[in-house]
Amino acid sequence: METFTQSRRTFLTTLAALLLDSWSLSRGFASVDHPADLSLQDQSKVIVVLCGGIRREDTFAKEGLANIPHLCTDLLPKSILYPFVHNAGVTSHFNTISSILTGTWQRLDDWGKTAPNTPTLFEYLRKERQWSEDRTWFISSNKALTNRIGASSVRDFGPGYGANVMFPKQLLIDAVVYAASKGKASRSADPYKMQPELAAMLEANNYEGLGWSVSGESSILNASARATVSQAIQDLLHANAPITGDEFTFLVGTEVMRRFAPSLLVLTFSDMEVAHFGSYSMHLAGIRTVDRLVYELWNQVEANPAYKGKTTLFVLPEFGRDLDGSVTNGFFNHREDCDSTRLTWMICTGEGVKPGDLSERVVQSIDICPTILHLFGLDPAQVAGKALSEMQV
Ligand SMILES: [Zn+2]
Repeated sequence: METFTQSRRTFLTTLAALLLDSWSLSRGFASVDHPADLSLQDQSKVIVVLCGGIRREDTFAKEGLANIPHLCTDLLPKSILYPFVHNAGVTSHFNTISSILTGTWQRLDDWGKTAPNTPTLFEYLRKERQWSEDRTWFISSNKALTNRIGASSVRDFGPGYGANVMFPKQLLIDAVVYAASKGKASRSADPYKMQPELAAMLEANNYEGLGWSVSGESSILNASARATVSQAIQDLLHANAPITGDEFTFLVGTEVMRRFAPSLLVLTFSDMEVAHFGSYSMHLAGIRTVDRLVYELWNQVEANPAYKGKTTLFVLPEFGRDLDGSVTNGFFNHREDCDSTRLTWMICTGEGVKPGDLSERVVQSIDICPTILHLFGLDPAQVAGKALSEMQV
């Protein structure tokens, strides 16, 4: 008998696979199972994990270490730690992530109405290295982003060289809302009434009704998998527990790694952003989720032959959060011009790194883009940040 947590994870894993089927089918992507793509497995990989707004005092500080047991005991000995990473730009999610991806401070619409105005990592690599479109992915659960994050507005670059951008949590929510609107549940908020309709859609293999379609024999659910999904939906809805967006983002991310083995994968987590609603304990729970998921992600890297021994992982918060007692409501927000908000950290693990290294100089968020480009053999002059000299391959 599976526990609730196990069955819920099985359910989310199945949904992640279905989502990827639909995505691949609509874009005609082959997966790495295809012999023609095996050569990709010999190439260097970079994974970047951006962890929303997290203060140093809640993580890499004496009182914060309890929130990051995996980062500080499992990963740190294999990593280089940059304890001082400065964000001198606009501390909104879209602006900061755009700055990190372009290596240049961006001043754009906070809610992603406009694309970055200098090329992103994805575009440099796809254009200069002639990478195919399945080699760069951006997967996020952050509601403050839009798919404009995947490519700049620069004429010679742009969406034709951009990343695949996915917002799995939003797709899942849309699917549930859509399913609910198709039946009696649309007239009722009662999850007990919604469950049979969702289950019926899955049992009928009518994935299109949920916004997905399925390609390939391996994706057709067998009877026992269907029963598991039905049970998981029932548990999920009856428990009335929030679906953690980060867990789903992680599952879609690892499914993308398994199927496409992208050379550059950027994941952004956002469970800790519950802080905007004022719950400090839920904020800390979000930090612990990231800590666990980053550790699981590294274990997936080690277990996946396409990644093992050739991957460099970058993990960093986008920024901190405001000081307690500030006029901006302390940890709720991240817009104060102070070290609590602007100064964060980065931990890098894997191929480009000397294990157990520490660099205490202050580095900039915009240094990450040129560092990654350098790892892939590119040094574009127009990037404002400087490649981190400690990182080499
Ligand atoms: Zn935020």
